[in-house]
Amino acid sequence: MSNHIDRRGFLVSVGAAAGAAATAGLAGGALGAVGQSQSGGGAGGGGVGARAGRAGRVCAISSANGVPAVARAVERIRAGVDPALAVVEGVGILEADPNDKTVGLGGRPNEFGIVELDASVMHGPTHKAGSVASVQNIMHPAQVALKVLQYTDHVMIVGDGARKFAIAHGFKEENLLTEETRQEWMQWRRHRSEIDDWLTDSQMDWKPDGTRPLTNTEKRAELEERSAGTIHCSAVTPAGDLAGCTTTSGLAYKIPGRVGDSPIIGAGLFTDNEVGSAGATGRGEEAIQSCGAHSVVMEMANGKDPTEACLAVLKKVADRVRRQRRLVDERGRPNFNLVLYAVRKDGAYGSACMIEGREFAVDDGTGARREKCAFLFERRGD
Ligand code: ASP
Repeated sequence: MSNHIDRRGFLVSVGAAAGAAATAGLAGGALGAVGQSQSGGGAGGGGVGARAGRAGRVCAISSANGVPAVARAVERIRAGVDPALAVVEGVGILEADPNDKTVGLGGRPNEFGIVELDASVMHGPTHKAGSVASVQNIMHPAQVALKVLQYTDHVMIVGDGARKFAIAHGFKEENLLTEETRQEWMQWRRHRSEIDDWLTDSQMDWKPDGTRPLTNTEKRAELEERSAGTIHCSAVTPAGDLAGCTTTSGLAYKIPGRVGDSPIIGAGLFTDNEVGSAGATGRGEEAIQSCGAHSVVMEMANGKDPTEACLAVLKKVADRVRRQRRLVDERGRPNFNLVLYAVRKDGAYGSACMIEGREFAVDDGTGARREKCAFLFERRGD
């Protein structure tokens, strides 16, 4: 049985969190002195607004859409809840929100109009992960990933197997496509090509409501934002226990069955209880090919602060991606965004994006808020 998750250990760590919080004495733990984390922006990693980790204090970091998630995670950790349960509960707020089109209910669908979700959870104290990919009709894939973590000897369950696994655990099936995302998907479908049998807005001779149809250019501009989104949340307890979770509807209008980085341990999420926890949002293919989250944690293990660790990994991604010409601009800079988030065992946190302009959410015990990500490249054209 030794190769099975020690469920008792997991539950003990759930129950012990409150007590551990009271006796927190990590003071930087294996990492030694508390370091600085830069949370401000700056090309090449220069930053402002340094944020130090404060040993013995709670911290949760998330993608920009996660202000309610970090607030909830911190609230639950303070109540003595295990950090894995706390981050899953935090991101669950966004999974249930039909207005967040990047996760769960109302997430943007695949190219056939079906919402396919990916999620992962990693529990630092037991170094156990769980994940699901390409799961349909289940609003809370992060909770299903948590069941994989808790109740199986596996790490990853995909597709119909994941859906059936969820149903077996009492999750209810529902259509996750909202009227708004259905209409957006149909717009996208109609504007994919002007030489198929779908009429684009500018090709339509008649609109029943009499409005002027948007031109293709206008419609494309409206749809440009379609591909971004996911929620990642990593947290540390006052005792220095870590957990992370990433959940997403993935790339909008993806090829059915496409799996991004979010459910892949080491790519969209990695947690090492001796070091820290990290996650990624943005172009998942690059997070996978750089083992993004794992690389961030390794950079922290080698002494970089969380922001520097994120920037170092982004730099490697930018260097390697030059070999794929479609992914770089005329100056050889990546033409996509990738955002990395990290929290260290001592509570230091940081985030960086490939191209200037992104924010992240954080609650380090002083309130949930957004801060600017550090960045590798200034926005194109500036
Ligand atoms: N990383 C996600 C994926 O590739 C998408 C995103 O965060 O925008 O599936």
